[in-house]
Amino acid sequence: MGAFRPYWNHTAIDMLKERTPTGNGRDKDTSGRKMEQNIRLGRIAGVPVGINWSILVIFWLLAWELADLVLPGYHPHQSTTTYWIAGILATVLFFASLLAHEVSHAVVAKRSGVGVRRITLWLFGGVSELESEALTPGADFRIAVVGPLTSFALAGLFGVLVYLLPKTGGHEEVLVSALGWLAWINLLLGAFNLIPAAPLDGGRVLRAALWKHGGDRVRAATSAARTGQAFGYVLVVLGVLEFLTVGLIGLWYVFLGWFLLTAARGEESAAVMRSSLADVHVRDIMTPDPITFASGMTVTELLDNQLHRYRFGSYPLVAPNGQLQGLTTMTRVRHVHADRRQTTRLIDIACPLPDVPVGSPGEPIPDLLQRMQASPDGRALVIDHAGRLVGIVSPSDIARFVQLSMLRSQTRRVQRD
Ligand SMILES: [Zn+2]
Repeated sequence: MGAFRPYWNHTAIDMLKERTPTGNGRDKDTSGRKMEQNIRLGRIAGVPVGINWSILVIFWLLAWELADLVLPGYHPHQSTTTYWIAGILATVLFFASLLAHEVSHAVVAKRSGVGVRRITLWLFGGVSELESEALTPGADFRIAVVGPLTSFALAGLFGVLVYLLPKTGGHEEVLVSALGWLAWINLLLGAFNLIPAAPLDGGRVLRAALWKHGGDRVRAATSAARTGQAFGYVLVVLGVLEFLTVGLIGLWYVFLGWFLLTAARGEESAAVMRSSLADVHVRDIMTPDPITFASGMTVTELLDNQLHRYRFGSYPLVAPNGQLQGLTTMTRVRHVHADRRQTTRLIDIACPLPDVPVGSPGEPIPDLLQRMQASPDGRALVIDHAGRLVGIVSPSDIARFVQLSMLRSQTRRVQRD
């Protein structure tokens, strides 16, 4: 089916994204912000599934290219309606295939003890966001490889359908060709994602192999991320060449390459950051003795009488008897409408205590980070063995620590030289 070559230009990629303590120094509350651009479709296998608005661009491009160019090229003299029905149907089935690919990652991840935060379909394909890293190279390998295998299985399924369905020569044949296209594009989806360049699935497979071979996950992740960056550059260069010789379509490669390059760079620094936090304990990072407020205080009282004295992004709330009741953040306070500030108590807008991650001062920070990432506000309270609140950990604490340790390692390098 060589004539289907134009579809290379829309090859979808997907990503397994491990959530990582990112920070740019600001104590910001990102929960919910990203979801606003996404439409929630529901849950599959217990994982929330959403689509990003950007997918409409690709949906339209694919449906149009099928209905207007490819199918008429194969089967002339059919009605426009037939082409469009087949084109739209095939495009819907393509996104269903993409979703099946992501869901297979999610199912295997959950079976391997890795939580899945959500699946999103967007401009370049799909993203499955994992809540933590795989515990073993074997699990890392299985979570990654199942995606392309699912795409190959779907390619086989659509291929068999094409083989079995009768060739009548009528407008049904347009549908059969659309199924043939689905077989082809699933094959491409599987093959492209097996290229050993992170963040593609093949990059994960490479990481798992290097991890198993060398025993060092960080080094393995760094190498996989570097090949990802190299591949990103190659795509950008090819895209520019194609843009200069063929035309606009080259820009697609440029965008795709640039996206891969950026994602791979992010992965490399995330791997380095994880390793720099490996031997750090909660007490090294936490802000000690956090300011607490009475849970019955109103938002107005807080804004008028208290807040000008402090500059923190989150405040634990305590009952009159001193018992911890929850955690409120500046983002939550900001969302209270001016009319309701006088009657809204802090506890009404707080994250209730059972939902706030809690750590102990001596706990390794990566363990707490995993719990923080799954929490609504991304912050944790630190409680000592006597049950006293001794600290709070926020994303800015982590960002500050990472920046500091990077600066220190620079100093050490200079002193060695
Ligand atoms: Zn995948």
